[in-house]
Amino acid sequence: MSLHGKTAIVTGSTSGIGLGIAHALAAEGAAIMLNGFGEAADIEAIRQDMAARHGVQVRYHGADMRRAHEIADMVAAADGELGCLQILVNNAGIQFTASIEDFPAERWDAVLAVNLSSAFHAMRAAIPRMKSSGWGRIVNIASAHGLVASANKAAYVAAKHGVIGLTKVAGVELANDGITCNAICPGWVLTPLVQKQIDARAQTEGRTGAEVECALLAEKQPMLAFSTPEQIGAMCVYLCSEGARTVTGAAMSIDGGWTAV
Ligand code: NAD
Repeated sequence: MSLHGKTAIVTGSTSGIGLGIAHALAAEGAAIMLNGFGEAADIEAIRQDMAARHGVQVRYHGADMRRAHEIADMVAAADGELGCLQILVNNAGIQFTASIEDFPAERWDAVLAVNLSSAFHAMRAAIPRMKSSGWGRIVNIASAHGLVASANKAAYVAAKHGVIGLTKVAGVELANDGITCNAICPGWVLTPLVQKQIDARAQTEGRTGAEVECALLAEKQPMLAFSTPEQIGAMCVYLCSEGARTVTGAAMSIDGGWTAV
C-alpha cells in the first residue's frame, strides 16, 4: 500500500487504460477521483466495485476534458473531497483518422483539446496543490504516436508529440519541488478506442476482426501481442513510487518494440 494517504485523479478512467490505471493506484492505497463519459449506472458500478475491492475512497467527477473550467472544478473537488491531491494521471483521449486534406477542422480541435490541452489545464490547476505538500507525481498517457508518426492520424500524432513536450517542460520546471512528470507511451492496447479502428477496418477491408487484429500488430510491433491496461497501470505505479523519485521528463515506451525499429 505504497500510495496510502494520497489522492489521485485519473482522467478518462471509465474505460480501457484509465480504468486499469485507477485500479492499480487504488490497489496501492490511493483514493481515486474517476472521470470520463458513460452511463451513470455503469459508472456508479465501477466506483462501488473499485472502492470495495481495494478498500479506498473512490469518487467520480464528470468534467468534460474539452472544458478548462470543468477541469479546474474537478481538481478542486478531488482535493476538497478526498484530500491532498498528489497524483494526476492525464489519460483521457480520443482518436479520429483521415488524411490531412480530408481532416475536418472541428475534429482536429476536439482531438487537440482532449488529448493535449486538457493535460495542460489539469496540470495548471494541480501543480500549486502538489507544491504545497512538497510531493507530486504527474503521469501523462502519451503513445508510441508521441514518438513516431502514422498516416491518417495528424491530430492524434501532433497532440501526443505535444504531450511529450509538455511533460519535458514540467519535468524541468518542477525538478526541485518534489514533483515528477513523465509520459507513458503505449503501443497497441486492446481497448474500445482501438476496437473502433479494428471494426472500421474489418468493414472496409472485408476481413474478420481477428484478421485485422493480427494485421495491426504485424504492421507496427515486433512483439505480436497487445499490452494490457493492467501493464500500463503497473508502469504508472512505478512512476508514482519512491524508486522513481529521480525519473522525470521521461517518455517511457511500453510498445512491444514498436519504436525500437
Ligand atoms: P478508451 O476509449 O477505452 O477510453 C478513453 C477514456 O477517455 C474514456 O473513459 C472516455 O470516456 C474518456 N473521454 C473521452 N473524451 C472525454 C472527454 N471529452 N472528457 C472526459 N473524458 C473523456 O481509450 P483507451 O485506449 O483506454 O485510451 C486511453 C489513453 O491511452 C488515450 O489517451 C489514448 O490516446 C492512449 N493510448 C491508447 C492506446 C491503445 O492502443 N488503446 C495506445 C497508446 C495510447
